[in-house]
Amino acid sequence: MPSLSHLSFPVGPLTLDWRRGEATSFGVRLDPRSAGWMVAAAFDDRLEMDWRAAVSAGTAVFRAPRHRLGTPEEPHDGEAVGSLILLSTNPGADTPGHERVHVLQHDFGRELWSTPLDRWVAGFIPGGATVTTWVDTGLLYGGFTWSLMEILDLERHNEPWEVEADFLERR
Ligand SMILES: [Zn+2]
Repeated sequence: MPSLSHLSFPVGPLTLDWRRGEATSFGVRLDPRSAGWMVAAAFDDRLEMDWRAAVSAGTAVFRAPRHRLGTPEEPHDGEAVGSLILLSTNPGADTPGHERVHVLQHDFGRELWSTPLDRWVAGFIPGGATVTTWVDTGLLYGGFTWSLMEILDLERHNEPWEVEADFLERR
C-alpha cells in the first residue's frame, strides 16, 4: 500500500475519507456518540456555542456562561466528550488546550485502532461492513478505555490520557 493512500480528516462528529490510488474515492463517516452529545449540547439552554473556538478547534465548543461544569463536589473547568468540548465560564488558561488534546486523542484512537478493529468485527456480521463504511461505531473504544482503567486500577486524573493532556497543555 503506497504511503498517503488513505487520508482521514476528522471535523467534529464527521470524518472525511480520501482514498487515493487507481480508483480515487471520497467518503464520510459519522461518530454517533459525538454527534449525540453535540445535539444534546445544542438543545441545552445552559450552554452556548463558542464559534470562534469551534472554528479554531475543528469541532464543536460550548461554554457554560452561568454555571460551572461537573458536580458541586467535583467541578470542572472543562470536559471533552468524544469530539465535543465543554468549557466553564472562566476556565483556567490551559483548559481549552487540555480538552483539545483529548479530542486529538479521541480522533487518533479511533483512526489508529478502534475503527479498524470495529470493521474487522463487523465483517463477521451480515451488513456490518456497510454500516462501518458510514458509521464509526466506537464499540471497542469505550470497552478498551474502561478495561484499561479497571486493569490498572487508576485514580481519576492519573489515566495515561490525562497525564498526556496535562503534559501537552503546558507551553
Ligand atoms: Zn482531561
